[in-house]
Amino acid sequence: MAAIYNSIGTVFYLLLILHLGACQEDFCYAEAECGPQTWGGLCSRGTQQSPVALAYNFVDFLNGEERELLQSGAYLEQQSFFIENNGNTVSIRLRLDLTSTTYLSGSLLGGSYVFSQLHFHWGSDDQQGSEHIFDGIRKPMEAHFVHYANRYPGISEALTSNTPGAVTVFAVIFDISDSDNPALNPIIRELRKLHNANPEVRIQSRGLVLTDLLCPNTLREVEVIQYDGSLTTPDCAEVVLWNLMIPTIPISQNQLNEFRRLRNRRGRPLSNNFRPLQNLNGRVLRYFRTSIPR
Ligand SMILES: [Zn+2]
Repeated sequence: MAAIYNSIGTVFYLLLILHLGACQEDFCYAEAECGPQTWGGLCSRGTQQSPVALAYNFVDFLNGEERELLQSGAYLEQQSFFIENNGNTVSIRLRLDLTSTTYLSGSLLGGSYVFSQLHFHWGSDDQQGSEHIFDGIRKPMEAHFVHYANRYPGISEALTSNTPGAVTVFAVIFDISDSDNPALNPIIRELRKLHNANPEVRIQSRGLVLTDLLCPNTLREVEVIQYDGSLTTPDCAEVVLWNLMIPTIPISQNQLNEFRRLRNRRGRPLSNNFRPLQNLNGRVLRYFRTSIPR
């Protein structure tokens, strides 16, 4: 009898470990057993969490300081890149030798930040997809350019540093346009090879110009809303200096549909991979104007 209780206990313990493990590493968005409600740690206890709702206030920008945003040469040039469908998003990295030469700096950031990866959040329809809400509207897609402060040897050290500003993310929000956005084509053309989620499959491609995805290439003057927040995926570390770029970037319906055809690890459509809004809890939003050198 005791042996049976013991095995039941062991099985329960194993299930508990599997469950906790699932929340940390195998999180998801739609399914009840691994969705945002189950994300533990700072995801449920934190006070500086992301995403949040943001508002455009003309006066705030008018009074906003002009700050410098500098991009290294590699940001402005065509790059080779690796792309994968990890089941929760499409993620893009550069070759390791290029990563250290691809960075952002200037008074907007108060330091130099090395590019780590770029990924996307999108919806199953045009009324949802972005993580940040702007003026009460959820847009169909949002891209995150993740960088770490160059005082850390790599992204892992920055993420576990427990230090606000160890990581900076540039968030770009998309609006549907009539024609394709050519800057997205190097990514779009690889998506068909990534139909099924598999973090082991990384496709190498070329021709990506990061700056053309950061803001429309017709513009020199952009606005940025900055605030202190967290990763929007487990473990939701509160280390992120967020920069929301204004204006939005165009994406055509056809281009967006290529993202919507992707599948998650359960073989279901990969979309609506955005975290619910978090409370601002008194955090201050900072409004800046900056110019993009071309
Ligand atoms: Zn993200």
